[in-house]
Amino acid sequence: MQEAEFSPMPSGPALTEPQKALLKLGLKRDIDLALHLPLRYEDETRITRLADAREGQTVQIEAVVTDNHIAFRPRRQLVVTVDDGSDACVLRFFSFYPSQQKALAVGARIRARGELKGGLLGWQMVHPVCRSAAGELPQALTPVYPTAAGLPQSYLRKAILAALGRADLSDTLPPPALGPLGLQPEWDLGRTLRFLHQPGPDTALATLEDRSHPAWQRLKAEELLAQQLSQIEAKRERDALRAPALAARRGGLHEQLLAALPFALTAAQRRVVEEIAADLGRAVPMHRLLQGDVGSGKTVVAALAAAVAIDAGWQCALMAPTEILAEQHFRKLIGWLEPLLAPRGLRVAWLTGSQRKKERAQMLAQVASGEAALVVGTHAVIQEQVQFQRLALAIIDEQHRFGVAQRLALRSKMAEAGHEPHLLMMSATPIPRTLAMSYYADLDVSTIDQLPPGRTPVVTKLISDSRRDEVVERIRAQLAQGRQVYWVCPLIEESEALDLTNATATHQALSQALPGVLVGLLHSRMPSPEKKAVMALFEGGQMAVLVSTTVIEVGVDVPNASLMVIEHAERFGLSQLHQLRGRVGRGAAASACVLLYSPGDNGRLGETARSRLKAMVETADGFEIARRDLEIRGPGEFLGARQSGAPLLRFADLVADAALLERVRELAPVMLDRHAELARKHVARWLGGRQDYLKA
Ligand code: ADP
Ligand code: MG
Repeated sequence: MQEAEFSPMPSGPALTEPQKALLKLGLKRDIDLALHLPLRYEDETRITRLADAREGQTVQIEAVVTDNHIAFRPRRQLVVTVDDGSDACVLRFFSFYPSQQKALAVGARIRARGELKGGLLGWQMVHPVCRSAAGELPQALTPVYPTAAGLPQSYLRKAILAALGRADLSDTLPPPALGPLGLQPEWDLGRTLRFLHQPGPDTALATLEDRSHPAWQRLKAEELLAQQLSQIEAKRERDALRAPALAARRGGLHEQLLAALPFALTAAQRRVVEEIAADLGRAVPMHRLLQGDVGSGKTVVAALAAAVAIDAGWQCALMAPTEILAEQHFRKLIGWLEPLLAPRGLRVAWLTGSQRKKERAQMLAQVASGEAALVVGTHAVIQEQVQFQRLALAIIDEQHRFGVAQRLALRSKMAEAGHEPHLLMMSATPIPRTLAMSYYADLDVSTIDQLPPGRTPVVTKLISDSRRDEVVERIRAQLAQGRQVYWVCPLIEESEALDLTNATATHQALSQALPGVLVGLLHSRMPSPEKKAVMALFEGGQMAVLVSTTVIEVGVDVPNASLMVIEHAERFGLSQLHQLRGRVGRGAAASACVLLYSPGDNGRLGETARSRLKAMVETADGFEIARRDLEIRGPGEFLGARQSGAPLLRFADLVADAALLERVRELAPVMLDRHAELARKHVARWLGGRQDYLKA
């Protein structure tokens, strides 16, 4: 066999089908192939006698073909009878090539592997894997790899074997690290990988399946270490950059803002403001995530940070993922800051996608001249034509809703000015601790863990969709008290059109059921001015009920709203539900959230849907919700911006391997200091070119 045939990185232009598939799977380098581990193993190392076999067992038999014919009833099939000396067995193939039929000619001695079925007609196997009985039995379990269309197992196996032979598998873990990580020195990386690709026949498969085998421990530790190292590196790289040091002046803008606020900050808000101010005061770019439950008051914290930057003579950019969110989230903030800016001859500029050309040009000029001290908008804020005069601070609301590309664009935009601005990201979806320690290890995190005083807890009720009428009664009761109501319709991902019909129908039904009440409708396809008009009516209190299609439209702050109805709640994610619920309970009135659910066709809710709804009823604590969400969905969904293209953990599990993660975390900085070269090699080996995503 020529090695070149399986070379994973061919130089010529013409890629074969399997080569293309390899690239698609991200298997470019030898080490990528070496780290592509089997899903499971098949035991072809032994032969089972039919007389000793049990029904339902997956076995390999060695037998001689005694009959071979094509049957046409009940459908066309190749029927091959074999005998292993202890018993006979019928092999059935519903699709087959002539060559297969020939290989199974009467008299041929073959090995067949498959699930044994018993029955009146004796033993049977359907579509067993057959090969000639020539040659020795394999010495190792046969790996079954995750693969893709156009990439047969046999090709992948050979490619991986060849790569294992070529790849540099020398250890990057310094020997003193092994003990603290609970690793066994004899399981070095080379042995670990060779073993996992071809475990010997005596291996206890259970220890591979539950990943408790020392080889698995080794791999998990290596993977977690690569992740930690690359993030510490990213952080250190950033620490070497220069940002404007923004000192918070006595009597400065932020103190004026504090004095003008209609409320006092909570202790938690004061704490995070201090953390942020300390960062801003350093000449190193801040990279901080501000997390706090819905309604915990992140906006005012952002305003205070902006005030510090503006007071120091710099510009601040504020971004939200959608226009409505930008408007809703920042209107208050602008209301607070604008009166303080005006006397200084400064203003607030808006940049959004739907802006008219003329208005936009005017705004761009203000941004470029520095007259606009605060620039607010959607990702239009970071588009190419936008030239800041002196950008010092960028604040991103709902950061997880931005994509990787947008965040990378932001970083490069910010770097244009010759210095790095500070970056403050805000999120209402708290990151569970294990995630914060792993995927976000390069971020500093500030947490508002306290709600402003006077909030009443929201009562959450699960109600079957068949009891809609009762919900309408509830709405009437709230309206009678002068309260307002949200009704959120589900996102039907396959079809925006369906979404709309659904919401429109609900809107009509509610309008009819509530005569004399202004019921509004908000959906994503409405033109911007219309959306704004609807929002204004609801915020002004003239509109009592707001029916809305998508979650995004509901980033509103209407303290008088006391009831949130979520239709088809079983279709929403847990943190989405939690965020939606956070739209009520903002005033002093007792508030409720009704989760309307429709059981599936079988009359039952799915397992995950049930655990989500259960979590909603049981807890209102954003951190607990996040923890359960992580349990239900795994980390992928959480990462939002980091999700696509980011190297997710393949081997380690954040929940099961939390203890290992802790130990790796302690070790990583030490390794970077004492064994910089090994650390660099380790990261390159594990992450290849992908570590950039982690910096986004
Ligand atoms: P979120 O963290 O979800 O962005 P907001 O910043 O929108 O929350 O704050 C929710 C509401 O609470 C707003 O009406 C805001 O003005 C108000 N608020 C914020 N901080 C306080 C506080 N310390 N005391 C009273 N109300 C506050
Ligand atoms: Mg907010």
